[in-house]
Amino acid sequence: MDLTNAQMRDIETLIHPYTNLDAFRQTGPVVMERGEGIHVWDTNGKQYIEGLAGLWCTSLGYNEKELIEAATQQLATLPYTHTFAGKSHERAIELAEAVKEISPHPTSKVLFCGSGSEANDQQIKLIWYYNNARGKTEKKKIISRKRAYHGVTVATASLTGLVPNQRDFDLPIDRIHHVNCPFAYREAEPGETDDQFTDRLAKELDQFIEHEGPDTVAAFFAEPIQGAGGVLIPADGYFPKIKKVLDKHDVYFVADEVICGFGRTGNMFGSQTFDMQPDSISVAKALSSAYLPIGAITIGDQMYEAMLEESRKIGTFGHGYTYTAHPVCAAVAIKTLEIYKKRDIVGHVRKLAPVFEGRFAKLADHPLVGNARAKGLIGAVELVADKATKRSFDPAQKVGITCQMNAEAEGLLSRALGGDIVALCPPLIIQEDEVNEMFDRLERALDATEHWVTKEGLR
Ligand code: PMP
Repeated sequence: MDLTNAQMRDIETLIHPYTNLDAFRQTGPVVMERGEGIHVWDTNGKQYIEGLAGLWCTSLGYNEKELIEAATQQLATLPYTHTFAGKSHERAIELAEAVKEISPHPTSKVLFCGSGSEANDQQIKLIWYYNNARGKTEKKKIISRKRAYHGVTVATASLTGLVPNQRDFDLPIDRIHHVNCPFAYREAEPGETDDQFTDRLAKELDQFIEHEGPDTVAAFFAEPIQGAGGVLIPADGYFPKIKKVLDKHDVYFVADEVICGFGRTGNMFGSQTFDMQPDSISVAKALSSAYLPIGAITIGDQMYEAMLEESRKIGTFGHGYTYTAHPVCAAVAIKTLEIYKKRDIVGHVRKLAPVFEGRFAKLADHPLVGNARAKGLIGAVELVADKATKRSFDPAQKVGITCQMNAEAEGLLSRALGGDIVALCPPLIIQEDEVNEMFDRLERALDATEHWVTKEGLR
């Protein structure tokens, strides 16, 4: 295959995240050029439906004029100022007020940052700080779940429960542990009901905390729906049962809303859809519709009181980034939240959810699909070699990636996750006819993949 000039320059200059760096030297990148609504175009002029909203983030789609204007105005007025050492600015205050207003738990303060990883990283720091302030200096262990995704900093890649994020990076760090995840298709015993399965998971968590010693366990992190780990949707009873265990042992509960936040599951937050009742949330991505990088965490009264106490002792709250509450990012985020409200994005997702979930349910009949799952406007199909036994393909056969490439050829960007799971998570502004077009393209890609699997004898 002949590479273009841009592709060759790319190969010589860039490291690409989540890419096989060796194979990439032969294929080169698809180079994207522009976007409009739910569509993007590459430099060959090929149009794609952005079926994953970039990286689960461009909720208002592309070329949203109001966001462009908000950024432009702020750039012209005050492109940078900070919130360190007693300084502030109106955009930071306004955005904190807006986040507090919609937060799914009683929120006292908001602490901004630049990304989802930074949000979870500062959660960990605050949890340790909090327990030092409370004199619980041994209470520091953090529990995450297998197949979780919470970021890639040293600490958050440790929370992440996926092999490529840890292997050969000398991770996870100490104090971070993983328990099983509520993925019924793969983790429930044959014949186990949802209720029995979630009872078992809650009991396992309880036993784990008892075994480690409740005085050593500080926090539990959970995405409402585990996104990058495979779009794992918990049964309704799961989180209330988990929450009971956490309360029993005084374990701080962080809901990682980086994907589910701002309407994705049909409520403003995934915490509400799954009745999580967290002590804090982490947000990023759709906070600014990904037009500029910004994240945040929410802080309840108890945490804030402890932080006050700790800073009385040591004099300063020693944390913050140059770009904490960056004014241009904040201006875009304020506008984004305003648009969610005035266009009733949550109502729109609720209206489209039956169509989206219904098309996923239909895909379960496809010969390649072992499991199809969806909630709101996020979902995935899991491709298997044998539907009856759920036997997976050999990872070396790259069936999921092939399906993703076939979808790309059909003009659909999706994401193949580990375990041959192909995910969709389109911009929330998608319309019903576009949802149907997206699934028509995915079905053609699945058919092409099935044809290839049969021809190559991969079963
Ligand atoms: N948490 C979740 C649930 C995520 O999905 C992601 C990113 N996919 C992150 C955290 C990390 O966010 P970022 O890539 O902005 O650091």
